[in-house]
Amino acid sequence: ELSPFPAPGHLQRQSSPSTTCLGCSSPVLFLDLPSQLGLHACSQPPWAGSRPGAGLYNLGSTCYLNVILQCLTYTPPLANYLLSRQHSRFCSQQGFCMMCIMEDHVRKVLYSSATAIRPRAVIRDLKFIGEFKPDIPGDAYEFLRCTLNAMHRACLSGSSDSDVSSQETTIIHQIFGGFLRSRALGKCLGEGISHSSAVPFLLLQGASSLNTALEDFVVEYPECLDLRPYMSDPAGEPILYSLYAVVVHTGHTCLGGHFFCYTKASNGQWYKMNDVSVESCAIHTVLGQQAYLLFYTR
Ligand SMILES: [Zn+2]
Repeated sequence: ELSPFPAPGHLQRQSSPSTTCLGCSSPVLFLDLPSQLGLHACSQPPWAGSRPGAGLYNLGSTCYLNVILQCLTYTPPLANYLLSRQHSRFCSQQGFCMMCIMEDHVRKVLYSSATAIRPRAVIRDLKFIGEFKPDIPGDAYEFLRCTLNAMHRACLSGSSDSDVSSQETTIIHQIFGGFLRSRALGKCLGEGISHSSAVPFLLLQGASSLNTALEDFVVEYPECLDLRPYMSDPAGEPILYSLYAVVVHTGHTCLGGHFFCYTKASNGQWYKMNDVSVESCAIHTVLGQQAYLLFYTR
C-alpha cells in the first residue's frame, strides 16, 4: 500500500535526525518538506511518572474548551511533537500561532507542579481560533474542529497555499487527517479505511454507541476497536484502535450544559478531568458514559 505518510514504526530516514522522541527515544525524523517540520509517528506517551497532568481552571463557561485541551494533551503523537518544540524552533509567525500556544499549554499541563493551570493564552486568542467569545458557552466539537484547523494553518504558515503536498503533510493532518476532512461518522470511518496506513487516529462524534455503530448505532463503545471487519478486505490482520479519551456532555443543549472528559495517562490509568478536578477512575466508568466525542488511536 503506497502512502505519502510513513506508517508508525516504519519511518524512513530522509535527513539527519537532530533530536530524539521524548516518548520512545527514537530519533525524530524529518520529512523533506518545505517547512522542514520534524515529524515522527511515535505513539508512546511522552510524560513520565505516575502523576497525571494538571487540571484546568474554568475561566467563565470554558468547560467546552477545557475538555478539548485535555484530550489533545493526552493524544500521544501530538503531545510528543509539541513537547519536542519542533514547531517553535522554525516558527516565524508574528502574533497568533495556535501551534506555539499548544506547545506552551501542553508543556505547562504535563510538567507543572500545580494541580491546575489557567489556559489564558487560549482565552485571549479565542477570536482567532473560531467564533468563540469569553464568558459565552461553546460546543466542544466545534472547538476541536476549529483548534485543529488553527493548528493546521499554523503549520502551513510560510508555505504557499497552492503547495498541496505540504497541505497534506502537516503533523496535524498526519495525526487527525481523517477527522479534518469530515465530521460525518460514515465519511470519517471511510477516510480511516482508505487511509488506514496513514491515519493513526479516529474520532467519532455523536455516537452514544460504537461497535456496530459502524453498521448502525448501538449503545456501547469498546476500549479496543477492530476496524478490520469493515474494511474492503475483511479477512486480513486486525486493525486495532484503542480508546484514549472520551468527552461527556451533561444537560439538554450543546451550549447549556457542562462538559467533562476522561483521558488515559501514560501509566495506563484513566482520569476523569472536570475543569480543575483530576481524579483517577476505572475503565468501566469510562465505558459507561453517554459519550459526546470518542478519541481512538492506533
Ligand atoms: Zn508558531
